[in-house]
Amino acid sequence: MTTFSESVRKYEQLCEENDVPAETVMAFLVELSQKERYNLYMNFDNEMPEDLKERFDEGMARILKQEPMSHVLGYSWFYGYKFIVNPDVLIPRPETEELCANILSRMDEFFPDQEEIRCVDIGTGSGAIAVTIAMEEPKVNMSATDISADALKTAEKNAEENGAKIRFLCGDMTEPLLAEETKYDVLICNPPYIPEDEEMESSVVDYEPHVALFGGKDGLYFYRRVFDTCRRIMKEKSFMAFEMGWNQREAMSALVESTLPEAKYEILKDMNGKDRMLFVYFGTL
Ligand code: SAM
Ligand code: GLN
Repeated sequence: MTTFSESVRKYEQLCEENDVPAETVMAFLVELSQKERYNLYMNFDNEMPEDLKERFDEGMARILKQEPMSHVLGYSWFYGYKFIVNPDVLIPRPETEELCANILSRMDEFFPDQEEIRCVDIGTGSGAIAVTIAMEEPKVNMSATDISADALKTAEKNAEENGAKIRFLCGDMTEPLLAEETKYDVLICNPPYIPEDEEMESSVVDYEPHVALFGGKDGLYFYRRVFDTCRRIMKEKSFMAFEMGWNQREAMSALVESTLPEAKYEILKDMNGKDRMLFVYFGTL
């Protein structure tokens, strides 16, 4: 017989030996057992049911080989919503939840009396941002794009499962939007922004889609693409919200100032104190 405590201790030890964060063990057990953490601790000296133990052992074997826990589970939590994830989409990150919170507060500030807020999420991946914003702000009319048709299939499922109404378009950055007449109040984009020669953890680089990660030599390729074309799809009074790399403040500021000299902008830090979000405002004093 194996108790919860024995099994958890064994895997925490193995995690340490294999360079996997030890917290993953309890986080995985909470999801697999569908029990609260305190409830597991209360039963820590009891025997682990056979079927749970089997799933736990199988999953931990994969996690110890650096496979992301979200891939083993097939889902991930983001802003309190459940998202299907798989190798076609980036696993949504906690920093991106902060981006969503900031977008929602600026929408309130900018468009208090507007009945509808037209919004687009470029490079939607799992749909995490688009679904969250559409669910949290009922005034939003949401469109979302991606160049990956496979990612869009997952995003569509996520919109449906969470009950969000979103129009999906497949295409290269702003291209599908430029082909239409529609103008937007809010453009959101968390593009691939990792410089292409950066060294990365194997749990990311071996398991997540490279089309979602790498943004050219300096990581800024996709921002340039948006900045060069955005005026044609943004309303006069509107804003754009981007996630960005923690070490891109200077290069990003220079890029905004040179390509969008009439716009105001700010760079915000994430909860770890790192530069992480860029907001660009058009038509405000
Ligand atoms: N928005 C999701 C999130 O925040 O979790 C995913 C962001 S991921 C960093 C970047 C996304 O951009 C990926 O889904 C990728 O497929 C998409 N992408 C990459 N190149 C693109 C392009 N040229 N045009 C449109 N989307 C692109
Ligand atoms: N935050 C992701 C990572 O560090 C990268 C996301 C992105 O390029 N937009 O793996």
